[in-house]
Amino acid sequence: MKFVYDFTEGNKDLKDLLGGKGANLAEMTNLGLPVPPGFTITTEACKVYLDSGEEPAALRDEVSAHLEALEARMGKKLGQPDNPLLVSVRSGAKFSMPGMMDTVLNIGLSDKSVQGLAKQAGDDRFAWDSYRRLIQMFGKTVLGVDGELFEDALEAAKAAKKVTVDTELEAADLKKLVTKFKKIVKAEAGRDFPQDPREQMDLAIKAVFDSWNGDRAKLYRRQERIPHDLGTAVNVCSMVFGNLGPDSGTGVAFTRDPASGHQGVYGDYLQNAQGEDVVAGIRNTVPLAELEQIDKKSYDQLMQIMETLENHYKDLCDIEFTIERGVLWMLQTRVGKRTAGAAFRIATQLVDQGLIDEAEALTRVNGAQLAQLMFPRFDESAKVEQVGRGIAASPGAAVGKAVFDSYTAVKWSRSGEKVILIRRETNPDDLDGMIAAEGILTSRGGKTSHAAVVARGMGKTCVCGAEELEVDTKRRRMTVPGGHVVEEGDVVSIDGSTGKVYLGEVPVVPSPVVEYFEGRMHPGADDADELVEAVHRMMAFADRKRRLRVRANADNAEDALRARRFGAQGIGLCRTEHMFLGDRRELVERLILADTDAEREESLKQLLPLQKQDFVQLFESMDGLPVTIRLLDPPLHEFLPDITELSVRVALAESRQEPHENELRLLQAVHRLHEQNPMLGLRGVRLGLVIPGLFTMQVRAIAEAAAERKAAKGDPRAEIMIPLVGTVQELEIVREEADKVIAEVEEASGTQLKLSIGTMIELPRAALTAGQIAEAAQFFSFGTNDLTQTVWGFSRDDVEASFFTAYLEKGIFGVSPFETIDKDGVGSLVKLAAKAGRETRPDLKLGVCGEHGGDPESVHFFHEVGLDYVSCSPFRIPVARLEAGRAAV
Ligand code: ADP
Ligand code: MG
Ligand code: MG
Repeated sequence: MKFVYDFTEGNKDLKDLLGGKGANLAEMTNLGLPVPPGFTITTEACKVYLDSGEEPAALRDEVSAHLEALEARMGKKLGQPDNPLLVSVRSGAKFSMPGMMDTVLNIGLSDKSVQGLAKQAGDDRFAWDSYRRLIQMFGKTVLGVDGELFEDALEAAKAAKKVTVDTELEAADLKKLVTKFKKIVKAEAGRDFPQDPREQMDLAIKAVFDSWNGDRAKLYRRQERIPHDLGTAVNVCSMVFGNLGPDSGTGVAFTRDPASGHQGVYGDYLQNAQGEDVVAGIRNTVPLAELEQIDKKSYDQLMQIMETLENHYKDLCDIEFTIERGVLWMLQTRVGKRTAGAAFRIATQLVDQGLIDEAEALTRVNGAQLAQLMFPRFDESAKVEQVGRGIAASPGAAVGKAVFDSYTAVKWSRSGEKVILIRRETNPDDLDGMIAAEGILTSRGGKTSHAAVVARGMGKTCVCGAEELEVDTKRRRMTVPGGHVVEEGDVVSIDGSTGKVYLGEVPVVPSPVVEYFEGRMHPGADDADELVEAVHRMMAFADRKRRLRVRANADNAEDALRARRFGAQGIGLCRTEHMFLGDRRELVERLILADTDAEREESLKQLLPLQKQDFVQLFESMDGLPVTIRLLDPPLHEFLPDITELSVRVALAESRQEPHENELRLLQAVHRLHEQNPMLGLRGVRLGLVIPGLFTMQVRAIAEAAAERKAAKGDPRAEIMIPLVGTVQELEIVREEADKVIAEVEEASGTQLKLSIGTMIELPRAALTAGQIAEAAQFFSFGTNDLTQTVWGFSRDDVEASFFTAYLEKGIFGVSPFETIDKDGVGSLVKLAAKAGRETRPDLKLGVCGEHGGDPESVHFFHEVGLDYVSCSPFRIPVARLEAGRAAV
């Protein structure tokens, strides 16, 4: 195996092997851009080292061969006393990772070669400045010396000289500093700073390998779900010097604005400096545009190169460069990070420039970004006082009074207050408080902490791990940097999309993107925002591309209308249970408790017109589009009074010797119907089979509503869905009765209703016998919530709060299977059932309802297994449309 690649040998697609930095350095080299020569040690070498504790045997020789070639090319040798070649050793994994080892610059300098460098450059100051930087960086990152010690010594040197910036230190001062730095190394690391250049290089390479398993790097990978076995590459790059005086310098730039996507000159430049100074902020940088005055030739060349890079990568790039005595060098590039809004704008801009096509544009954005753009946001023009920043764990903008325990959160929210629950970290006991709060703020924990996971599950705003906030739950207060104390009841604002924490109330404005979907903002209008234009166009790209249709889960006309505005192509799930609550509850209670057929029929007769009216409205709002209505699904006890409450009432009446016959009868019934495991009990189709007349009443209501809409020249397209079927026999019985009722209504109204009848596939048995079930079903809708619940044996209502955090932390799964479909388990059943169903009935319509229908990754899966549509909550529809388009690219 080859462990070392020259920059001329790699390319941008080799990120797995060469890391992001190495792959792109190679790409730039091959584009003919001025990159200082060098080579990359592969991630494979790192993996061997991490697995065995030793560098692969061949590595040393390969590095020697590449180093010799580099030396021959540069006409000098690493650390050669009179004319030293210097290199940087730079880490570079596939994904950039904070917590990885930093870069060490100026490797090859020693007590001897520093003299040679000075003579060769004709600049003593420069040589000693480079040497002190090497000892500082090497000491800190390779030998593990506390960096503060070097910083303090540098500060002391400046103070002694009464100057404020490092460029004012002269050669003699820097020389003294080098002596001091070497002493620090000796004292702290227990060894001398290595004078042998090759030893410097080898130690630095090893330190990069080791840093892969540093604590911070590991934590970051866990949070970002980056696999732990990728390893990092190491780049050895010949040095160019930005600290050679005023005609030298270093900078960073973007090929366009990463916030707005606008083209222009975006970047910072620092004269007479080496790379790390720009980021460290030790001296004030100037805007990149000023480079034009400082060094026109380099500036023009840089602009040219940025254009080349954009055209080549066909995307926003960020870059690092250095100018050495008027000569420009490129040190890094990569496709740059951007905000969600900029992602949409940049994608459409690139289409307009003819750089990418619509399909490619769809790969440049994603549903998570769109979802982020749909949250209400803080008004950017408002005056704000930011006091901290944590991890953006669950998006949204939340404002409320600070509370420090769940009890208070619940109490205050009951009395109408909006609260933000602030904890060091949360645990399952905090659940009530989290539900009651507008948002959750913690000072500990990352993206998989309890707070983050639960908040995301609830769609609640959450900022976690805001470490600079000192939360004192005992004293019910939080201290923010600078010492200000936030007491219980003080108003705070948190932004779950950025992780920012503010004091006081920051005004919230609706997202323009939602205003657009709601039809309140029109693309093309004068005041339309640029972002809206971009989203509008991307949605059109997605709609043109996608095969999956997108429907809504909507239970009433209001939701249905909103869903239509958001682009729904029908209703995939209308739950009928809410139609049995409120004033109608009493009727249902009577139905359930009926002793005689006559009593039962009376209740059903009263329920029928009410149900029918619900459906008429629904069909009207979805005229011309399919509406899937699920017959009654939940366990019966949900419609009956609470057992404890009722027992107390009966006991009380008894002790007071008051009449309580009705209560007693009710209590007995409730006892009779009580189930230990209601989700696996009397519900779904089982109800329809046990309570005579219930399902036929619902079918009649649907059929009569459809007939009424037809008579009114409407175009109702009802689909009747039977829940929780486990075997075809259940479905056959329900169908037989339903067909009879439908025929009656058709006859009476003199119209053909064309109602279709299908079933949910939400039990493993249904999936396994889908071929048989399809004989009686015209469509399947995968109920992936219940299917996940029954396949895993997880109670959906309990697990997220009880043990899912532990599972996520242990890496048993990366994301909750209720959030993203478990492809291997639940997904296999979906695939199998889809195939078997279509074998029986080739025109079987297949869809999915449930949370997964709006989850990006799951949408891609449903596309792949050939479903016809996904159905999700109205608010997720744009996300599902976009992802369905992306899935088809
Ligand atoms: P990071 O991943 O932190 O950006 P880099 O490896 O890019 O680390 O290096 C840190 C800084 O040092 C950057 O500003 C980079 O441009 C600069 N740098 C790296 N290698 C060289 C080199 N061979 N010559 C001059 N500057 C360099
Ligand atoms: Mg860099
Ligand atoms: Mg279900």
